[in-house]
Amino acid sequence: MLRGIRPISLLRSGLPVAKLLRQKKINASTIRLFSNMESIPVGPVPVQRKCPCCGNSIVSRIEHKPSAKTHLIAVILFVSLCLPCVFLPYCTDTCKNVDHYCPNCNGYLGTYKH
Ligand SMILES: [Zn+2]
Repeated sequence: MLRGIRPISLLRSGLPVAKLLRQKKINASTIRLFSNMESIPVGPVPVQRKCPCCGNSIVSRIEHKPSAKTHLIAVILFVSLCLPCVFLPYCTDTCKNVDHYCPNCNGYLGTYKH
């Protein structure tokens, strides 16, 4: 499928995708492979998976990131004049999405959406 090009080598090269495309180091099928990786089901806690990038069996590293829902809850709290509570959605992990990454190669595994 990748014709000898491993995705992890592209991630570690540090070059932007557009620059790699200009240099013809990757092609459109490589980009589709990266977008297909987003469909791996994950939960709110670290999961044990086989990494699609490096092929190792890993326990995912998670990062909590604010989503549109987080901002919406903050706006609702602001409009309802509950000003001391406006920052609450940003301080609690339950109002944020959970991104999963491989601890070995930092490859993106998936997102759990609250
Ligand atoms: Zn990996």
